[in-house]
Amino acid sequence: MSLSPPDANRAVEARGQLYCDGAEAPRRVDLRLGDTLQIFENGAFVSAWALADVRRVGSASGPLRIRALTAPPKAWCEISDAAAVAAVRQRCRLLEGDVQEKREARWRIAAIATSGVVVIAALVWIVIPAIADRLAPLVPAGVEKQIGAAADSQARSRFKGGACVSPAGEAALGKLVDKLKVLAGIPLDVQVGVLASPVQNAFALPGGRVYLLRGLIESAQSPDELAGVLAHEFGHVAHRDGLRAALREGGAALAIGVVTGGAFGAGAISAAARASLSAAYSREAETQADDFAAAVLTKAGRPARALGDILKRIEAQEGSTPLDFLRDHPLTRDRQDRLENETTQATGEPLLSAGDWLALRAICSR
Ligand SMILES: [Zn+2]
Repeated sequence: MSLSPPDANRAVEARGQLYCDGAEAPRRVDLRLGDTLQIFENGAFVSAWALADVRRVGSASGPLRIRALTAPPKAWCEISDAAAVAAVRQRCRLLEGDVQEKREARWRIAAIATSGVVVIAALVWIVIPAIADRLAPLVPAGVEKQIGAAADSQARSRFKGGACVSPAGEAALGKLVDKLKVLAGIPLDVQVGVLASPVQNAFALPGGRVYLLRGLIESAQSPDELAGVLAHEFGHVAHRDGLRAALREGGAALAIGVVTGGAFGAGAISAAARASLSAAYSREAETQADDFAAAVLTKAGRPARALGDILKRIEAQEGSTPLDFLRDHPLTRDRQDRLENETTQATGEPLLSAGDWLALRAICSR
């Protein structure tokens, strides 16, 4: 045999409970708990309390003493009938009053905060890296320039030798860069500098600044090889690869900084700059930059495989770092094959005269 569960909406009655109307001495009443708590005295209706208005007063142990927000301030009712106590506890949702409301509010706030954290975490680790390529075009050029400027000072601080500024060398470099800009055929706002480092490397920063390191210039055997490396870096600039890398790595900080602006924006710019220096380019970005360089050299009537030649020479050396600074994107076999298959012959004018080439090679000597 089993008892059927009590019906939550069935009226519960309790006789002989204690009631005080706040004015006279407490007296015995009968209670009827349905949609409201009704109080009867000797069969005559006395009062009805809305269940949402009922609050507990006094200690939690012993008979349950309650009051109603809408009843006279000193009125109370004391229930000792166990079934009625259970029904009041079950049906009067705000019996514990402020404490209960505050607890519920705290839970609501905690739930909202937790969901906010989850959303931000998802943005940081999943969404932004995945859509970095789509976000890049939305970043204003001015913000990209700021990231580039911050990355520039961070990069320069890594190379204690400073910039190479021999006038003849700079003039020769300027000639080469100007030719490549025209050949690239896009409004590239690039500035090229040389840093006095023996490392055989080159890199592009967000916003268009490109650096050649002294070691790379010294290892180049022809203007074509150097032009190939420069055009490869121009390809990264054109495709905003530094910015894309920064968005992938420092995406959340940058995105929040761009949105909020102000002081936090400066921190975000700095974080994005760091990210742009350390983040690796994708293999697709590398291949794209190689193709860009090959197209520029071909347009100049110069052998595009010159880029492959210098990359192979650099990579063959022990302890070398991959091109583009500290990025982890070695010259893979397929990249090498693509470059070696370039069969353009040297049909165009040399990109630099012999004199300019010598001056450029000596740009870091005083
Ligand atoms: Zn590259």
